[in-house]
Amino acid sequence: MNLADSEEMAAHLLARGYVPTENLEEADLALINTCTIRDHAEHKALSFLGRLRKWKRENPSRIIIFAGCAAQRLGNRLKKTFPYLDLVSGAKEIDRFAELLDHSGLFSTNPAEPNPATQSVTGYVTIMRGCNFACSYCIVPSVRGPVHCLPSQQILRQAAQKAAEGYPEIVLLGQTVNAWQEEGKTFADLLNEVSALPGVERVRFVSPHPAFITPQFLAAVENNPKIARHIHLPVQSGSTKVLQEMKRGYSRETLLEKLDALKERGFAISTDIIVGFPTETPQDFEQTLSLVERVHFSAAYCFKYSPRQGTPAAQMQLHTEKTLEERLDILLNKVKGLAESAYRVQIGKPVQILMESPNKGRTSDNFWAKTKKSYPVGSMVNSIVEDVDDTLLLTRD
Ligand code: SF4
Repeated sequence: MNLADSEEMAAHLLARGYVPTENLEEADLALINTCTIRDHAEHKALSFLGRLRKWKRENPSRIIIFAGCAAQRLGNRLKKTFPYLDLVSGAKEIDRFAELLDHSGLFSTNPAEPNPATQSVTGYVTIMRGCNFACSYCIVPSVRGPVHCLPSQQILRQAAQKAAEGYPEIVLLGQTVNAWQEEGKTFADLLNEVSALPGVERVRFVSPHPAFITPQFLAAVENNPKIARHIHLPVQSGSTKVLQEMKRGYSRETLLEKLDALKERGFAISTDIIVGFPTETPQDFEQTLSLVERVHFSAAYCFKYSPRQGTPAAQMQLHTEKTLEERLDILLNKVKGLAESAYRVQIGKPVQILMESPNKGRTSDNFWAKTKKSYPVGSMVNSIVEDVDDTLLLTRD
């Protein structure tokens, strides 16, 4: 989501004559797009902003924009702590970013020649924003607001434009992306329509919620090979009791049914897991470990529970840091090697690789693959996996 928002904001800066650089010293403007889902993420963004004080002092005409979820949460209070900050643009204001730039008086309003896009095979299209869930640990609904689905006509127009610009892979984005709907149309319909656009070779989507993995969705993907066979589905816990206390809207049993159905349809599944939710007992934690053993995720991103101010879970009694560390260590040991074994089982399988460089690309199930011969970036290569080098498939091609 942040990547797409960054692209959208960057596009408005490109239109005002800026070109991207990762070298701060040569930059005239710093755009910091922030995440606030964990305290740590917000802290890192603020500490980076603090370090920009010297950068701005060296050349006061430099511009600093602080955007995204932390900007939404902290608002104009930021300007008191960081008086050298030029603009604050919250995550809910992304649609008005261009207006904000124009009204700031900091930018020329004469449109500049667009700069050539950097070479990439992936075009991002936001299809919905916000979230209607109220997970007890999560700050997102309060900073991003309720679900707002963009009209399918607009989505299809944007996806078609991306494909015409040379992006064969389209990633549909939303906080709970598969909650997208429109009168008479479901997320599954939208996936099929996007995949049928000329020039679209593959469609991915981020971030889905387990509640919307429906039979209709499964039927749609089953018959459409252009829908990538990888899903990043945050499970958060393997214990029904903790899932209820987290207000996730599913139980271990329904979750397992959905994960099994996805696996039967060839999906590689990666996930996010929170350890040490305040009410998590040692038995609950065991349930998470057993879920990890049972499902064989292709990757699992594990986080210690981090309380977020204003959420119901922030009122609960925290585990000690020692317990959090111990549980995280145990889980990390369990998930260590998941990726390697997910890669190893690919040996002998046919793969379709979308080339992201002349010799490297990603398969439909999101594994990196290296080809022997060189191919044009953006082309699709059919091959067989011959061997594996750590987390890289080596193909026969
Ligand atoms: S589904 Fe839950 S965790 Fe995900 S954004 Fe919504 S409230 Fe947060």
